[in-house]
Amino acid sequence: MLKLPIYLDNNATTAVDPAVLEAMLPYFNVHFGNAASRSHSFGWYAEEAVEYAREQVAKLIGAETKEIIFTSGATESDNLAIKGVFETYSGKGNHIITCITEHKAVLDTCHYLEKLGAEVTYLPVQSNGLINIDELESAIKTNTILISVMYANNETGVLQPIKQISAIAKRHNVLFFTDATQAVGKVPVDVQDDGIDILALSAHKMYGPKAVGALYVRRKNPRVKLSAQIHGGGHEKGMRSGTLNIPGIVALGKACEICRLQMQFDFLRVKTLRDKLEYALLGLEETFLNGDPEQRLPHVSNISFKYVEGDGLLMALSKTIAVSSGSACTSASIEPSYVLKAMGVDDDLAHSTIRFGLGKFTTEEEIDYAIEQVTGTVNKLRALNPLWITHKESIA
Ligand SMILES: *Cc1c(COP(=O)(O)O)cnc(C)c1O
Repeated sequence: MLKLPIYLDNNATTAVDPAVLEAMLPYFNVHFGNAASRSHSFGWYAEEAVEYAREQVAKLIGAETKEIIFTSGATESDNLAIKGVFETYSGKGNHIITCITEHKAVLDTCHYLEKLGAEVTYLPVQSNGLINIDELESAIKTNTILISVMYANNETGVLQPIKQISAIAKRHNVLFFTDATQAVGKVPVDVQDDGIDILALSAHKMYGPKAVGALYVRRKNPRVKLSAQIHGGGHEKGMRSGTLNIPGIVALGKACEICRLQMQFDFLRVKTLRDKLEYALLGLEETFLNGDPEQRLPHVSNISFKYVEGDGLLMALSKTIAVSSGSACTSASIEPSYVLKAMGVDDDLAHSTIRFGLGKFTTEEEIDYAIEQVTGTVNKLRALNPLWITHKESIA
């Protein structure tokens, strides 16, 4: 039996894997020590667990254990990376290059730094969601200290040309930070191969719990220095103070290990399901895929349904399918997604857009049901829409 509603919003968050939950539970009340306690076995046990998790995280992304800093999630990691570079490298320059389709954790941090004297270039994207690599290179100036471009976009799944970006950064002696929250654990990410200097990731996007994440900070070629943003106690090599979230860190480590061993298998299966969903929905008239069809994550599909009233579509689906829309509610109004807008998608079409985020727990039965529901709803809403009727008459 199908259990409703079906969860297809895995880019917003994922369910905790049962094996991850099992691994973390003893650290709440049995092995509850503080990893900073040096004088007894409770502390030693906790510290050992943290170091083991650090190894599991490092291994997934091809890093050294000493290069992993635990944080409260990708928002904090993004803040630490960008503010940390801005403060540490102020003697070299104040210019940061990023991209207008970044996550708010990057964009808002950059806006904040502009008030403190940073100069920020926000690169546009092409209609497929990718930055233009020549535009990136020409944006570099003598005062550029950082390039911050995400690995994979959270709305479209588009994968930026990471190796090309890092080659340019290296050639110009500029640090390269990537928010890889959506990519790590889904596609192979390797800080050596990819030439990444700083990388942010988050547990709850990869079948771990919320509010725990990590920052990779390169220690060789070059050795990156970041000023701390949270002070007190000097935990995490002085880069992030505060008593460590041991259950969360153990869980993040386990989630990374599972992804390393299983992602190849999981995501081949998930991609097949995604492609089935997409093939069916793009078979409807006046329906468009957003983002590069090739260069993207295997489990995301962002589709616009023209001549369908966006609110009506989500309302109609909300009881049976959990998905995200191409709009965001602010306090005052419903705003079209800035990511889709940047790709040249007009406001009306952005409002009639759905992001389908499949995951490793998604089944074929669920996808068949989703195809049936979305197709039925789109057809029903169009039948009631005068614009659709006019459109059909005009092409008849
Ligand atoms: C989810 C997400 C974040 C925020 O991560 P949290 O751990 O929830 O703070 C940042 N960047 C991207 C690309 C994300 O998808």
